[in-house]
Amino acid sequence: MNVSDSELVESLLRKEGYKPIENPDNADLLFVNTCSIREHAEDKVHSLLGRYNILKRNKPSMVIGVLGCMAQSLKHDILENKPYVDIVLGPDSYKKLPEILNRHKSDNRSMVDTKLSRFEVYDDLFPSRKEGVNAWITIMRGCDKFCTFCIVPFTRGRERSRSIHGIVSEVKNAISSGYSEVTLLGQNVNSYDYENRNFSVLLKNVAQVEGLKRLRYTSPHPQDISMELLDVMGKYDNICNSIHLPLQSGSDRILKRMNRTYSREHFINLADTIRTKLPNAGISTDIIVGFPGETEEDFLDTINVMEEVKFDSAFTFKYSPRKGTKAVEYEDHIDEKVKQRRLEAVISLQKTHTIHRNENYIGKIENILIEKESKRNPLKWLGRTDSNKWVVFNKDNSKVKDIVPVLITQAKDITLHGKIFSKAKAA
Ligand code: SAH
Ligand code: SF4
Repeated sequence: MNVSDSELVESLLRKEGYKPIENPDNADLLFVNTCSIREHAEDKVHSLLGRYNILKRNKPSMVIGVLGCMAQSLKHDILENKPYVDIVLGPDSYKKLPEILNRHKSDNRSMVDTKLSRFEVYDDLFPSRKEGVNAWITIMRGCDKFCTFCIVPFTRGRERSRSIHGIVSEVKNAISSGYSEVTLLGQNVNSYDYENRNFSVLLKNVAQVEGLKRLRYTSPHPQDISMELLDVMGKYDNICNSIHLPLQSGSDRILKRMNRTYSREHFINLADTIRTKLPNAGISTDIIVGFPGETEEDFLDTINVMEEVKFDSAFTFKYSPRKGTKAVEYEDHIDEKVKQRRLEAVISLQKTHTIHRNENYIGKIENILIEKESKRNPLKWLGRTDSNKWVVFNKDNSKVKDIVPVLITQAKDITLHGKIFSKAKAA
């Protein structure tokens, strides 16, 4: 989401005559687009700003700005303790950039705008994208779910969706600019609702855009995965068989405390239904360990759901207290050492499941969209299966953005290895 937002900001700045440069030492403007989801993300921003402060000492005309989620929650700290920051803009205020920059040029004063909007979706702004295979397309912003651990509803405000028309024309534009794949983005992408047309309707419309080879989306909430959505995914070949299904916890008690709105049973059944309706689907997840009050028994419930579902991959996190959320007020926070131990246990279990899932691919022929050259071996390509697994394989005469059949020969850790399958050679 931040990459996508930065592309919007870049587009606004280019219109004002700015252009991106590689080396921050020479910049006239330096913007940090920030994330507040966990403490670690915020720590990284603080240290980056410290480095930029030193650059500004050598070039006092440099304008430093903080954009995005941290702007919202830390504006006072930034203004009081970081006087070298000139501009603080929240995620709904990017369109003010040209005006703010002009004002800053004339009076050199700090500017802050962190107001959240009920309407801003940047529908009319075409992002400035880096060349590549995939175009990120934000389709909705904000979140109304208020999971008790999560800062997003506070930093990004209320849910609002872009028009189907605006999204489809951006997809068409991306295809004619040379992209082969789009990923629809939203904090809760499948809560999409524009004039009573839901995410399944949007997906159907996007899938029909001519020339779109692959369509992905992230991040959905299990509560809003409908049978209609799975039917649409099964019907259109270019919609990838890959679902991110964030579990968070496998304990009903903790799920309730997290305000996740589904039970462990519902989640397991949903994963089963996905695998029945979309037999080749890859299912990934997010897991939080050490949420306040998580007992050893609750933690084992999470392990148990992992064993039941055997996710293809997982993003695993230690619970990070976020100021302003409900969970931070709970009195039974978990000791850091316990969190660390539980994190290591889920990481190592997930590794075995990823290997198990990947080994099932050996001997199969998968259609791979070529994305880039392998960093380790320039004679090989890197591409993804439609179930979202990375595959390394020989180049033959293929080129980036081709979809080629690849025979999977090996599964090493998280990456598959294979060779381009040629019927002639096989015969
Ligand atoms: N909207 C998506 C997730 C978006 S945030 C959903 O509800 O599933 C991405 C992930 O960050 C979450 O799934 C969660 O696992 C993690 N996360 C969010 N807040 C966190 C916190 N306070 N501590 C640790 N992990 C957190
Ligand atoms: Fe955060 Fe996702 Fe919950 Fe929204 S649904 S509050 S983004 S974890």
